[in-house]
Amino acid sequence: MESKPTKVSFNDTDTAYAHYSNQRLKKVYGVFQLIGNSLLTRVGTTLTHIALAIRFPIKPIVKPIIFDQFCGGETLKECIPAINLLQQKKVDVSLNYGVEIKNSEKDFERTLCKAKGAIEFASRKQNVKVVCVKVSSIGYFNVLEKRQAGKALSKSQEKAYDRMVHRMHEICAYASEHNVEVYWDAEESWVQDEIDALVDMFMAEFNTERAIVFNTFQLYRWDKLDYLRNSIELAKEKGYILGAKLVRGAYIEKENEWAEEHGVKSVIHDGKLPVDKDYNEGIQLCLQNINHVSVCIASHNEDSNIIATELMDGLGIPANHSNVTFSQLYGMGDFITFNLAAKGYNASKYLPYGPVREVIPYLIRRAQENSSVDGQTSRELTMLEKEINRRGI
Ligand SMILES: Cc1cc2nc3c(=O)[nH]c(=O)nc-3n(C[C@H](O)[C@H](O)[C@H](O)COP(=O)(O)OP(=O)(O)OC[C@H]3O[C@@H](n4cnc5c(N)ncnc54)[C@H](O)[C@@H]3O)c2cc1C
Repeated sequence: MESKPTKVSFNDTDTAYAHYSNQRLKKVYGVFQLIGNSLLTRVGTTLTHIALAIRFPIKPIVKPIIFDQFCGGETLKECIPAINLLQQKKVDVSLNYGVEIKNSEKDFERTLCKAKGAIEFASRKQNVKVVCVKVSSIGYFNVLEKRQAGKALSKSQEKAYDRMVHRMHEICAYASEHNVEVYWDAEESWVQDEIDALVDMFMAEFNTERAIVFNTFQLYRWDKLDYLRNSIELAKEKGYILGAKLVRGAYIEKENEWAEEHGVKSVIHDGKLPVDKDYNEGIQLCLQNINHVSVCIASHNEDSNIIATELMDGLGIPANHSNVTFSQLYGMGDFITFNLAAKGYNASKYLPYGPVREVIPYLIRRAQENSSVDGQTSRELTMLEKEINRRGI
């Protein structure tokens, strides 16, 4: 049955942290205090890079502190307790085998295997509906970059590109067979056009009945709201459902540095305000076209999440409409996820897993994002502190 949206507040810390024991709550508070310290994060990041380079065993240090907070486990089996706990709270899961850029055919085949394993696993777990994949984990980044720059590929690069497209197709087809959604993550702008073109092609093939294949739209780019608008029109014209995961974007410094190095205008908006404006307009655009778009609002921004619920209310879209999902990263933004789920919205957690060494780049990104002055940590700490005080512990 469809449920009518009711007003959501993210200040209910009782609902947000009910899944944490007193001891765990205090530990989580300690972790956010630690990564909120920018000096510690900088030193920790450098030491981690050195430790990785000299193959120093860092697992005993990283695992209990930061890995356990932001990852489900090293294997799918190890993720089961986290997945079951989320299910009890009516929260869905998007699995992400947390490997970043890879550079050999052997690694690409391994990631393909992992993605198919995750899809198969998801099809057996009621609340695991999505598997997330990075194109650069199944094909050469430099081949995508060269193609996008309009440079000619060598014979072997052309073959490598074809193998990558074949792997993408295999993942989409396998997801479609198992009725599991596949989210293609957004990456750096100098390869994203290539990714967009491929994901569009697979959406046209697999999204005729429902959205199986999703692209990611980074609204910190000044060109992406228009691109989203055009993508909706293209989906309408070709008769498929657009799968749209909306994010602000994770590579701001890298993007600006790349633009400067190449003497071109950065694709990143000039300041946070236009980013927020485009992000919220992106939500509105998707919701206004809800019969043609399946949207995932992937954000820890409270205003954007509230705006989305209000727009749904205004447009008469039920809280549990199958074309609207809200998503936050595992271990963060619990006050958003669990309060949305408690009010009947489709809320989900993006759950990375994989060997500790492999997910280090992801964990470093989380620590860096949480240690920046205007980052998420102060909000996380405030909410955790509120719950600690409420429990009187
Ligand atoms: C479920 C999920 C999936 C994700 N998948 C991806 C993905 O595939 N690809 C990807 O790139 N990111 C991805 N992200 C990360 C995302 O892009 C953001 O980095 C992160 O969520 C922070 O943005 P926010 O909307 O939560 O909130 P906020 O905290 O409100 O916004 C912070 C973000 O705003 C932008 N920003 C901040 N200051 C400025 C400025 N001065 N100028 C321009 N922009 C600025 C940056 O994008 C920054 O990350 C994902 C996030 C989630 C929750």
